[in-house]
Amino acid sequence: MRILKIDHVGVAVKSAAESARLFSDALGLETEEEILNDRNLKIVMAKVGESRVELLEDLDANGTIAKFVEKHGEGLHHIAFEVDDVNEAAKKMKENGYRVLSEPQPGAGGTVVAFVHPKDTHGVLLELVERRK
Ligand code: ZN
Repeated sequence: MRILKIDHVGVAVKSAAESARLFSDALGLETEEEILNDRNLKIVMAKVGESRVELLEDLDANGTIAKFVEKHGEGLHHIAFEVDDVNEAAKKMKENGYRVLSEPQPGAGGTVVAFVHPKDTHGVLLELVERRK
Protein backbone atom coordinates (compact mmCIF):
# COMPACT_ATOMS: atom_id res chain seq x y z
CA MET A 1 0.00 0.00 0.00
CA ARG A 2 1.31 3.39 -0.92
CA ILE A 3 -0.23 6.70 0.23
CA LEU A 4 0.13 9.27 -2.55
CA LYS A 5 -1.30 12.48 -1.07
CA ILE A 6 -4.25 14.05 0.74
CA ASP A 7 -6.83 13.66 -2.02
CA HIS A 8 -9.51 15.74 -0.36
CA VAL A 9 -11.02 16.89 2.91
CA GLY A 10 -14.73 16.13 3.30
CA VAL A 11 -17.00 18.71 4.93
CA ALA A 12 -20.58 17.83 5.87
CA VAL A 13 -22.95 20.70 5.02
CA LYS A 14 -26.66 21.46 4.91
CA SER A 15 -26.57 22.77 1.33
CA ALA A 16 -23.68 21.94 -1.00
CA ALA A 17 -24.73 24.62 -3.51
CA GLU A 18 -24.91 27.33 -0.85
CA SER A 19 -21.63 26.27 0.77
CA ALA A 20 -19.95 26.16 -2.65
CA ARG A 21 -20.28 29.95 -2.92
CA LEU A 22 -17.51 30.35 -0.34
CA PHE A 23 -15.16 28.36 -2.56
CA SER A 24 -16.28 29.65 -5.99
CA ASP A 25 -17.31 33.26 -5.37
CA ALA A 26 -15.23 34.30 -2.36
CA LEU A 27 -12.11 32.16 -2.91
CA GLY A 28 -12.27 31.96 -6.71
CA LEU A 29 -11.77 28.20 -6.87
CA GLU A 30 -13.04 25.88 -9.57
CA THR A 31 -16.00 23.83 -8.33
CA GLU A 32 -17.84 20.85 -9.76
CA GLU A 33 -21.17 19.40 -8.66
CA GLU A 34 -22.02 15.72 -8.80
CA ILE A 35 -24.94 13.58 -7.56
CA LEU A 36 -24.03 10.16 -6.16
CA ASN A 37 -27.33 8.35 -6.65
CA ASP A 38 -26.41 5.11 -4.90
CA ARG A 39 -25.32 7.02 -1.78
CA ASN A 40 -28.01 9.75 -1.96
CA LEU A 41 -25.44 12.52 -1.85
CA LYS A 42 -24.97 15.82 -3.59
CA ILE A 43 -21.29 16.63 -3.75
CA VAL A 44 -19.44 19.79 -4.71
CA MET A 45 -15.70 19.41 -5.22
CA ALA A 46 -13.62 22.58 -4.95
CA LYS A 47 -10.19 22.26 -6.49
CA VAL A 48 -7.43 23.52 -4.18
CA GLY A 49 -4.14 22.98 -5.98
CA GLU A 50 -3.37 19.24 -5.96
CA SER A 51 -6.09 18.55 -3.38
CA ARG A 52 -9.77 19.34 -3.05
CA VAL A 53 -12.45 20.17 -0.55
CA GLU A 54 -15.52 17.93 -0.85
CA LEU A 55 -18.80 19.43 0.31
CA LEU A 56 -21.29 16.70 1.19
CA GLU A 57 -25.03 17.27 1.32
CA ASP A 58 -27.33 14.40 2.14
CA LEU A 59 -30.37 14.05 -0.11
CA ASP A 60 -31.86 11.62 2.41
CA ALA A 61 -32.98 13.20 5.70
CA ASN A 62 -32.09 9.93 7.46
CA GLY A 63 -28.75 9.44 5.70
CA THR A 64 -25.39 9.35 7.47
CA ILE A 65 -24.37 12.90 6.46
CA ALA A 66 -27.75 14.31 7.52
CA LYS A 67 -27.40 12.55 10.87
CA PHE A 68 -23.84 13.81 11.23
CA VAL A 69 -24.96 17.44 10.64
CA GLU A 70 -27.87 16.99 13.04
CA LYS A 71 -25.54 15.69 15.76
CA HIS A 72 -22.42 17.83 15.26
CA GLY A 73 -23.53 20.71 13.02
CA GLU A 74 -21.74 21.40 9.75
CA GLY A 75 -18.04 20.61 9.82
CA LEU A 76 -15.11 18.34 9.10
CA HIS A 77 -16.40 14.89 8.19
CA HIS A 78 -13.41 13.00 6.80
CA ILE A 79 -9.89 13.14 5.42
CA ALA A 80 -9.22 11.23 2.21
CA PHE A 81 -5.84 9.76 1.30
CA GLU A 82 -5.17 8.76 -2.26
CA VAL A 83 -3.73 5.24 -2.39
CA ASP A 84 -2.35 3.26 -5.30
CA ASP A 85 -4.58 0.24 -4.56
CA VAL A 86 -7.72 0.64 -2.42
CA ASN A 87 -8.39 -3.11 -2.12
CA GLU A 88 -4.90 -3.72 -0.80
CA ALA A 89 -5.09 -0.66 1.49
CA ALA A 90 -8.44 -1.79 3.00
CA LYS A 91 -7.07 -5.30 3.50
CA LYS A 92 -3.94 -4.00 5.19
CA MET A 93 -5.94 -1.75 7.53
CA LYS A 94 -8.13 -4.73 8.52
CA GLU A 95 -5.05 -6.89 9.11
CA ASN A 96 -3.76 -4.17 11.43
CA GLY A 97 -6.97 -4.26 13.45
CA TYR A 98 -8.73 -1.18 12.05
CA ARG A 99 -12.43 -1.40 11.26
CA VAL A 100 -13.07 -0.82 7.56
CA LEU A 101 -16.71 0.22 7.21
CA SER A 102 -17.50 -1.42 3.88
CA GLU A 103 -15.92 -3.13 0.95
CA PRO A 104 -14.39 -0.65 -1.55
CA GLN A 105 -17.28 1.10 -3.35
CA PRO A 106 -17.76 3.74 -6.08
CA GLY A 107 -16.97 7.29 -4.92
CA ALA A 108 -17.12 10.72 -6.57
CA GLY A 109 -15.48 11.26 -9.95
CA GLY A 110 -15.02 7.60 -10.89
CA THR A 111 -12.97 6.72 -7.81
CA VAL A 112 -13.18 3.63 -5.64
CA VAL A 113 -13.26 4.33 -1.91
CA ALA A 114 -13.25 2.62 1.48
CA PHE A 115 -13.72 4.17 4.93
CA VAL A 116 -11.97 3.42 8.21
CA HIS A 117 -14.00 3.83 11.40
CA PRO A 118 -13.46 7.23 13.12
CA LYS A 119 -13.26 5.55 16.53
CA ASP A 120 -10.13 3.81 15.26
CA THR A 121 -8.66 6.94 13.64
CA HIS A 122 -8.66 9.51 16.45
CA GLY A 123 -12.11 10.90 15.77
CA VAL A 124 -11.85 11.71 12.06
CA LEU A 125 -13.22 9.26 9.52
CA LEU A 126 -10.46 8.19 7.11
CA GLU A 127 -11.28 7.62 3.46
CA LEU A 128 -8.98 5.64 1.20
CA VAL A 129 -9.34 6.67 -2.45
CA GLU A 130 -8.07 5.02 -5.59
CA ARG A 131 -8.32 6.89 -8.88
CA ARG A 132 -9.14 4.62 -11.79
CA LYS A 133 -8.85 6.32 -15.14
ZN1 ZN B 1 -14.66 11.93 0.44
